[in-house]
This record gives sequence, C-alpha cells and structure tokens, in this order.
Amino acid sequence: MSNARGNPTRRLSVATGFFVAMVCISIVGLSAWRELGSRAADLKNAEVETSNLARSLTQYADDTFELADNFLMSTVSRLEMDGGSFAAIARLRKVLESRRPGLGRIRGLFVYDSTGRWLATTEEVDIGGLNNGDRDYFRFHRESSDRGTHLGDPVKSRSGGQWIVTASRRFDNADGSFAGVVLATVDVAHFSQFFGKFDIGPNGSVSMLSRSGVMLARMPEDESYIGRDMSGTALIKDLPARPRESVYYFRSPLDGRERLSSYMVSTRYPLVLLATKAKDDVLAGWRQEATSRMIFVTGLASVIGTIGLFLVRQLAQRQRMVAALRAQEADFRLLAEESSDMVMRVGLDERIVYVSPSCSRVLGWDATSLRGTSALGGVNAADLGQVERAVADLKRGAIEETKIVYRTQHREKKEIWLETALRATRSPETGEIDGVVAISRDMTEHKVLEQKLAALATTDSLTGLANRRQFDERLQEEWARATRDGTPLSLLMIDLDHFKRFNDHYGHQSGDGALRALAAILVSEALRPADLPARYGGEEFVMLLPKTDLQGCQRVGDRVRSGLHELSLPHAQNTPPRIMTASVGAATAWPGAAGTDSAKFVEAADQAMYAAKEAGRDRLVLAGQVIRWPRDGAHSVPSAR
Ligand code: GH3
Ligand code: MG
Ligand code: MG
Repeated sequence: MSNARGNPTRRLSVATGFFVAMVCISIVGLSAWRELGSRAADLKNAEVETSNLARSLTQYADDTFELADNFLMSTVSRLEMDGGSFAAIARLRKVLESRRPGLGRIRGLFVYDSTGRWLATTEEVDIGGLNNGDRDYFRFHRESSDRGTHLGDPVKSRSGGQWIVTASRRFDNADGSFAGVVLATVDVAHFSQFFGKFDIGPNGSVSMLSRSGVMLARMPEDESYIGRDMSGTALIKDLPARPRESVYYFRSPLDGRERLSSYMVSTRYPLVLLATKAKDDVLAGWRQEATSRMIFVTGLASVIGTIGLFLVRQLAQRQRMVAALRAQEADFRLLAEESSDMVMRVGLDERIVYVSPSCSRVLGWDATSLRGTSALGGVNAADLGQVERAVADLKRGAIEETKIVYRTQHREKKEIWLETALRATRSPETGEIDGVVAISRDMTEHKVLEQKLAALATTDSLTGLANRRQFDERLQEEWARATRDGTPLSLLMIDLDHFKRFNDHYGHQSGDGALRALAAILVSEALRPADLPARYGGEEFVMLLPKTDLQGCQRVGDRVRSGLHELSLPHAQNTPPRIMTASVGAATAWPGAAGTDSAKFVEAADQAMYAAKEAGRDRLVLAGQVIRWPRDGAHSVPSAR
C-alpha cells in the first residue's frame, strides 16, 4: 500500500489486467485475421471467375468472327472465279438470298463494287442507289492490298440504323486490281446480349475492344460507349508489353470505384475481351458477413473484457484486504507480544489460536504448549460457570465485551487469580463473530490484599472474632432472612464483671488475655455455622443465634457462663468465688411480628444484660422477664440446646 511500484498486489492486478486485455485482443485479432483471409479468398475467386469469363468471351468472339470470315472467304473466291458479269452478280444475289436463313450470329453479308456501290446483300432492301464508298473499311481495302480480314470500327448500320461491327475482305479483278469489298456485319447488340448472360454484379462490365482501343461492344449496354476510343487507357497503351491474359486492379476515373479486370487478347483476331467486376460488389457479401461476425466477436471480447476487469478489481480488492489484514495482524502481534498482559485469541471451538509470549510469565506455560489447547482448561471449577457464561454470551453476540475475575491453575504456583477482559472478534470478510480475544493479568497479589483488607475490615484484631461492623451487617441479613422465613432470632449480650478492676489489678495485658479466653469460649459454643460470636466493643461481646428460640438462646448463654466458671480465671476483685464471671442478657425476636425492629432487639438484650448486672452479676437474664435471682449466687441451670 505504500509503494505502488513494488507493491505485489498492484503488480498482480496489472499482470491479470494485461492478461485479460491480451485475451480480448487475441480474440479480436484472430477473427480479423480470419476475415482478411476470407476477403483475400473472395477476391481470388473473383479473379478466377473474371479470368474464366474473359476466356469464354474471347472464345465466343473468335467463333463469331470465324463464322463471318468463312462467309467472306467463300464469297470472295466465288466472286474472283465468276467475275463481275451481270449474270454472275445475279447468281451471287440468289446465293446470298438462299443463305439468309442460315446466317446465325451474322447479321448480314454485303458485296460492294470498286466504287462502293451495293452489288448484293442478304438484307431485304432495295439496293439501287446505295453506296458505301465513304466507309472506313471500304477506303482501307481500296488503298491496301492486304487480302486478309479487316475488322472495322463499329458503325451505325445504313440499312437498319443499329450499331454493328464489320468484318471485310477485298476481292480483286483477274489482273489483281481492286474489284470491290465483301462485308459481314455482326450486331453489337448480339454481343451485349451474350455478355448479359453472365453475372458480373451491379457495377461490373464486360467489354470487347479492338486492339487499337476502340470499344466494339459492352455490357451494360450504353450507346455512348460504342465506338469510343480507349487507346489512351493504360491497358491498351501497354498491351504489347503485357501477357496475353491477366488480371489487374484499377480505380475507375469515371466513378472512382476500385475494380478488378481480367482481359484476354485474341490470338486470331485483333480483339481484347475484358471482364470487370467492382471490388465493392465482389466483397459485398463478405463485408456484410464479416461485419456481423466482427460485431459478435467484438461484443464477446467486450463481455470477456468487462467480466475480466471486474474480476481483476475484485482480486485487487481482495488482495488489498488480505494485505490490510496482514498488517493488522502484525500490529496486533506487536502489541500482544510486547504486552506484559497475556493476550489470547480463542476460536469458536474455545481452543487457543494464539497466545502471547507473556503467558509463560502469567501461567508458567510457554506459548507453543498452550496453542491448540482448551482456553478454559485450568479454570477453577468454582469459577468455570462464570467464565463459560461470559464466553457463550460473547460468541452468541449478546455482549461485545466483558471483564471477569477468576481462579486458574498456574504450572508451578497452586492457583492464581486472573482478571480478564474479553472481547468478541468478527471476521473482516463476513462480519460474523469468529472468536474471542482475552487479555489477562495476574491479580493474585491484588486479590490476597483485597481479602486481607476485607478481613481487616470485618474482624477484631485482638480476639479474631467478627467486629461490630460485621455483626451489624449480619444482624441485618439474618433479620431479613428471619422475616422471610418466619423463624426466631436470638441474641446474647455478654459483659465481663468488674473488668475495670481486673485490669487495674492484673494489668491491661492480662485483661487482653481474659478477653481472648472469653472469645475462645464463644467460638467453641457457636455450634451452628450461622451462629455468629462478635466483639461488640470494649469487653462486651455478642452472639447472634439465627433460628433459635428463647430457650435455646438461654441454653447457649448458660453454657458460656459455665465455660467461664470452668476456666476459673482468678479475679480477686470480683465477688466470691473470686473468678472471672460475666453477666449475660438474652433476647429473642420474631422479626416477622409487628412492632419489632433490629435496634429494639439489640437494646432488649442490652437491657437484659444490665438487669443481670443489677441483679448481682454472673447470671443470665432473659429480656422481657426480668428475673431477680437471689444475691447468694443462684443461677439458671445449664442445659443442652
Ligand atoms: P461491670 O461489672 O459493671 O461491668 O464493671 P466493669 O468494671 O466491667 O465496668 P465497665 O464494663 O464499664 O468497664 C469497662 C472496662 O473494660 C474499662 C476498660 O478498662 C476495660 N476494657 C475495655 N476494653 C478493653 C480492652 O481491649 N482490653 C483491656 N485489657 N481492657 C479493656
Ligand atoms: Mg462493659
Ligand atoms: Mg463489665
């Protein structure tokens, strides 16, 4: 998260992003490559098609002109043999008329004399007065001695008005002088019709040119093209240097379209046949299919790219989270391992996942031996319930944190007190509680001190009995309990007789010893666990007796007194028999009854005690029934409770 360049998270997502981009580019690139391949194949097919077409057209043109040539040759030889006599011409006319139905592709045959006058024809026209002496082909033959076939430029027919192509030969007189011209015509439309049989696309064309570059026939039909001089075009200009047949690409100066052309030069006649297709027409099908295919592929690549980038982002986020967690974990460990407190991570199974090294100081065990063991292992059975409840509440999510104090086993020391702060931990991914962190410190010293202080606060240091304060507390508790349970509560108030004199006579130390002796008697007479002997103040003691009635109370008081008698502690200043004695006041209350309270209860016992003093000491007086005993030392009879 610090340095972007060296950050492995970022490097990974950049690499993955690059991979996704490469996949997308490869998909699109491969498809484009394939499309270019099929484009080239389509063009190649078109080249083959146009080449084949040019060849067929050439064959057809050659056949057509050969047919015309045959007519011309046979007519020329007939004329040269028969001569130009009237009878011969008449015979010729008959022959031509008879040939009319079998002409086929040839439109007509014409015979002109040396001046251009029509001598005979296959046409059904009146030939009188018609003269073709001005025609190019006528002039050519008159001036040239060449006896071969001459192909003329297209002309508009004088007989029919349509465009025609001419093939002509001269015939000679017997002396070799020019006698006239024999001419065969072919309709330009005838060629165009034939050309029209081939599918060359909406922008293609088929043309037949003379070697000199004059347009003889063309498809699609357009009169303005016929007879046009194309000698300036690259094809015609370079024709001598070019192969006999070939394919070439060019951009049309007329409509700006790119075209592919296949031409073939006839070997027998000065003709060039040309089949041309517009590249757009050739590629139209491919373009349409390629476009839809590429749209599909690009769409697919974008979907892959989008999903890929989404995953890359997810990955990066995850990686960042892992890194953050790792950092957090490191911080946690640093804190935990430096802490003098014991830090522990507990899983949901209550086993220790992690424990900081300070555990060896706190528990006496090292971290490795604790890891994986139960976190509640050494907990004192008396505290286990409390600890288990706290952990269960945290795991349940009822509380987020809590603090507990409990006893647990130390490896060497017997048992120690731990104060532990507990907190639920949540998975950063799901937010679910995944365990508990416990931070514990040894509280033993504190606890011992606390217990000591508590004891100090509630016990009397001289006798070890409960002090006045503890007595007051217990009195309230027992009063409340007796109220609840409807049981009696009794109290003895015990005061040593003439103790001041004892002190004065035997010394204060001996006085303290006497107080301790009385305390020991009280402790030994507190037979029930709930009985509470206490030092009420000075040399006055009390004994709280729950669930004890007046009789029982009296019995205990008597036993205390007889205990003192048995002790026979000398007390010279006391009344005979000169041993330590005590006066005891006893009171019993039914706390549930109306009009009573604990203060009155104590006061009653106190008054009974004073009554005992009044009555002559060393005796027990029950509150509410002040019994005056004879001064000669008579006392109540001790009896078992
Ligand atoms: P009485 O028979 O009427 O009770 O006569 P008494 O002398 O005992 O009178 P009182 O109860 O008033 O006397 C209390 C004496 O108890 C005063 C004091 O010297 C003595 N005393 C109180 N507390 C202590 C103590 O902690 N140690 C000693 N040695 N003496 C104490
Ligand atoms: Mg007293
Ligand atoms: Mg006294």
